Amino acid sequence: MNNQDYKAALDRITNWMQSYEARLDLTNVLPSTQPGDVYKLVNECAPNHGEEIDTILDDFEKFIVPNMTHWQHPMFFGYFPANASRPSILAEMLMSTIGAQCMLWLTSPAAAELEERMMEWLLDLLDLPQDWHGVIHDTASTSTFIALLTARERATNWKSNSDGLSSLPQMRIYASEHIHSSIDKAARYAGIGEANVTKIKTQADGGLDPLELAQRIRADKAAGILPIAVIAAFGTTGTGAIDPLDEIGRTCSAENVWLHVDAAYGGTAMMLPDIRSLAGHLTQADSYVFNPHKWMFVNFDCSAFFVKDKESLLKTFALTPEYLKTQLEGEVNDYSNWGIALGRRFRALKLWFVMRSFGKSGLRDKLHLHISLAKWIEKHVKQHPNLEIFTQVDFGLVCFFVSDASLSMEQENSLTKSVLENLNASKQIFLTHSKQDGRFFIRMSIGATNVTKQHVETAWEMIRAEVATVLA
Ligand SMILES: *Cc1c(COP(=O)(O)O)cnc(C)c1O
Repeated sequence: MNNQDYKAALDRITNWMQSYEARLDLTNVLPSTQPGDVYKLVNECAPNHGEEIDTILDDFEKFIVPNMTHWQHPMFFGYFPANASRPSILAEMLMSTIGAQCMLWLTSPAAAELEERMMEWLLDLLDLPQDWHGVIHDTASTSTFIALLTARERATNWKSNSDGLSSLPQMRIYASEHIHSSIDKAARYAGIGEANVTKIKTQADGGLDPLELAQRIRADKAAGILPIAVIAAFGTTGTGAIDPLDEIGRTCSAENVWLHVDAAYGGTAMMLPDIRSLAGHLTQADSYVFNPHKWMFVNFDCSAFFVKDKESLLKTFALTPEYLKTQLEGEVNDYSNWGIALGRRFRALKLWFVMRSFGKSGLRDKLHLHISLAKWIEKHVKQHPNLEIFTQVDFGLVCFFVSDASLSMEQENSLTKSVLENLNASKQIFLTHSKQDGRFFIRMSIGATNVTKQHVETAWEMIRAEVATVLA
């Protein structure tokens, strides 16, 4: 591509970017795509001769954009947000242009040092223990896997790294019954085994029962099983429930078990003092993960991982082959030694752009807005004769279901499901669901960058109308 074509394409793309954002509100949040539609539209193999970039961009607009689920749409209330923002998008474009590999300090000094600073900014912004050390990974799943491997190595004195697992006792980890599936996955590939993930039952507030946890750990030790780690949630995926972190921390310290806190979604709200206080001291946690790529206006991917004992982490992961050796080892942060991947993207740039462009107050204002909108929905659900709140609202997530004294839970489940399916079938709104203790409920997660009171009011009108239709 020559200079002139590149310049023209850049102009076209920046125009498209602005108009996409402006048109989003007028577009459906969900596409009408059927399975196989896009596959059939795309040629069977790569072209023999290069094509004009304008032709490729035409096809992008024709084939790709109309067949996307629009995650940045203000009527996107599904899952958890993965909210993008303008400063983050600009940083992504710059880092793609530089195209650096940020595995060692030497391969990108500015990336390594900006990452170190950004992790310190996050500790300050979120009021986390100042002696933690941070590193950016791609996802919370990776961060949790890294935490679990470090916990396993520390508990086995780095025996599994050197000799494999065969000579080791049976190992076990502990988490609430509502913990994220990434914990079961991590147990699978850490060689601990899914059967050795002990699920602790939860209490009325959704947090795990700390007494049962302590009993299970002690009973396992007495039976010759090696407890490796507890994974506690600050904001479960299903309902945003919070485990009693201080009590869990005391048990972990007393029993010498690694405590990893999964705050993938809820962690962003730590920047609000009211919510920060729900997490307790956190000083007994050994590691902690939260995703700026969920609710902090940083484009996917960006997962912030913190660890107290940096030496254990490095002892688990550092392995420098001859061709990567530098004179600076030990003096600087070579972040590929802090995790699994060797190659690393320059993700710190997005954090720097976002935190500077919004400022602490701008970020807090957005979160306040989202949480107040969630509480507004909660209030209306509570006042509705045929809707019920499933769990209390701490974050931007509202969980609710259709209820009626004359109906069984199965009937309520099936009506709730119909409400959800009909709303999503309109393609103008997107909500998702979960199920706990046999109860099917709708999850409305409010956190899109450009969501306003008006969008949430429109959503509430749609929900109300649909509930009336389904009950009629
Ligand atoms: C979203 C989520 C995860 C997984 O996050 P990824 O970055 O997609 O791996 C893990 N734990 C919780 C509590 C989550 O909400």
